[in-house]
Parts: sequence; structure tokens; C-alpha cells
Amino acid sequence: MNVLKIIEKLSNTPGVSGFEDEVIQAARTYMPENFDITEDRIRNLFIHCPSPGKDLPRVMLDAHSDEVGFMIQSVTTSGTLKFLALGGWNPQSLGAHAVRIRNTRGQWIKGIVASKPTHFLTQEDRNTPVGLSNMVIDVGATSQQEVIDHFHIRIGAPVVPDVVFTHDAENDLIFGKAFDDRLGCAALLEVMKHHIKRDQPLDVVGVLSSQEELGLRGATVSVRRINPDIAIVLEGTPADDTFNGNEAIQAGLKKGPQIRHMDKSVVSNPRFVKFAIDIAETYKIPFQEAVRSSGGTNAGVITLHDRSIPTITLGIPVRYIHSHHCIAALSDVNHTIKWCSEILNNLNRDIIESF
Ligand SMILES: [Zn+2]
Repeated sequence: MNVLKIIEKLSNTPGVSGFEDEVIQAARTYMPENFDITEDRIRNLFIHCPSPGKDLPRVMLDAHSDEVGFMIQSVTTSGTLKFLALGGWNPQSLGAHAVRIRNTRGQWIKGIVASKPTHFLTQEDRNTPVGLSNMVIDVGATSQQEVIDHFHIRIGAPVVPDVVFTHDAENDLIFGKAFDDRLGCAALLEVMKHHIKRDQPLDVVGVLSSQEELGLRGATVSVRRINPDIAIVLEGTPADDTFNGNEAIQAGLKKGPQIRHMDKSVVSNPRFVKFAIDIAETYKIPFQEAVRSSGGTNAGVITLHDRSIPTITLGIPVRYIHSHHCIAALSDVNHTIKWCSEILNNLNRDIIESF
């Protein structure tokens, strides 16, 4: 399987926060048998590289396995479904999109996010933005009983965007759902499977962390178990090149991975950031730098662990992140894999302790 295949598989797989099981199963299937792979009870997946020795500095590679989606909150008497968001959504990007709901038999049922049709809107309705509380998911049922007895949907059911991955090779583009953070997951698996030198004096542990979108919850648990000396977070990062002037773009498509100096969750260890930028320049890997006034990644909780873990975030620019349809460039994924791998292949204990 090449990187495109694992991206496709991970993008198409459903896995909202708390329901990451199918994503981590896909990741398990992708990794060779000589990797030690375990799970914990919040569904973090730990992938331990075959190590060249004992007492080596431990590197945590992190990508989050969950995606933004929804959970069914109640079923109305007319047979529509009220829902809550798992993760951050712009409600204006949601109406009339297709979703899939997992029923009690494990089947995925198609539904449409609906609100009052135009023919029935009052003037006041027209002047009011539609929020999640004015929307329902419609599976085509005609009563509450039908939803429960025929569709076998109960409250608490997870809901994912219904989107199928596509690749436009001629234009280096990929389209699909959940690029935040399945592109990071794919990059992590690829780095560990194919790109780390086996005699590198590092103990590398990859973790696909759960529930990042609900407040960095999986990583809060996983960093305690791994107890790393240093960490790299691989993320899908929101592209800003379709609505900004050139001077303000810090995450443009096809301009390479982004390294963050800061966001709302962290000020990245500046010595580690400099080391990473030096590597990118040495190996001629295109990259972008970001100083963000909002947003956060698992780097926030990893950095605050124990004696503080030097952590950087490498982000793959994704347009329309946290919506049904994401757009990214395959070359940006490949440059991220290359950058992360060369950072690892040039690290050793002395360098890590100097951060
Ligand atoms: Zn993310």
C-alpha cells in the first residue's frame, strides 16, 4: 500500500471523537508485524518502533485519530434527529450535506442535514442565521417509532460526514473528509514504516491520540504513558490562502508543511523549532512558518508534561478543515513525511538535551 492508499483508507473511515475504533483498526492493519502495537482505554493507539538498543531518548510522534462530527441527542415525534456537534463547526457550512449515522446493529444509515425549506420561511426566519439547534438530520423516517424500530438508531449514535475520497493526480490534489487529522495519521504511519533509520539512537513511539477535537483528551493520557523526551505533532492545519492577502498567508496549499511558533495552546520550544527549520533548509524541503492567534494542538498538553517536553507541530495545509469537504495537496503530505523523517534521522541525546 502506498501513502495515497492509506490516506484514502483513513479519510473514508468513520471515527468521530470517542468512536475512533475503525480508524485505529485501519492503522493496525497497515503496520508490519515487528512493530509492538497496543491500545489504552480511551482508544489511544501506541505503535512502538523496533528499537536498536536500551535507554535511548524517547521520541513521541503524535497525530490524532478522531475527526469532527456529531452525536444524536434526541428523536422528534416526526422522526427527525436532533444532534450536537463533536468538535468545532461553522453551522453555515452544514446545511443540505449528507451524513452517516451508526445504528445499534453497526450499520451506517444515510441522512441529510436539514432545516426549514425556503417555501416555509418567514421574513424573520430569513434574517436569522440557522444554527445547529434549528437543524435536524433526516433519514426519511415518518415517526419516532420508525427511527427506533426500523432504522435502529438510538440517542448517542455517532454521526460522520458522508464523503468519498478522490485524487486528482494531474493537479496534485486530494479531496475528502477528515483530513484533520487523518493526513497527520497517514504521515505518522508512513514515517514509522518506511523512513526512520533502523540504527538511529532513538526510541520512537507513535501514538494516534483520541478525542483531540474535544480538548486534547487522548494526548493528555498518552503522554503520561509514553513519558517522552521530545515530541513531534503531525496535524492537518487550516489553510488561510483563499481569503487572505499574500503577506498574511501562513498555510497555503502546495507551499509545504507549516511549523508553528505559537498558537493558543503553546509557545513551541524555540530551540527545537530552529533545529527543525535548519533541517528543512539543509534538505531543501519547502516550509511555512505560523504565528497563530487561535487554534491549538496536542502540543499544548505534551509540552506541559513532567519537566516539559520540547514539542513542535508540523501542519499539512488543508482548505475548509472542519467541514465536509477538505482540499489538500499530496506534495504537502510527502514533504511533511520527508521533514519529520530527516528531523528524526538527525536527532540524538545530546541535541535533545540542548533544547
Ligand atoms: Zn487536528
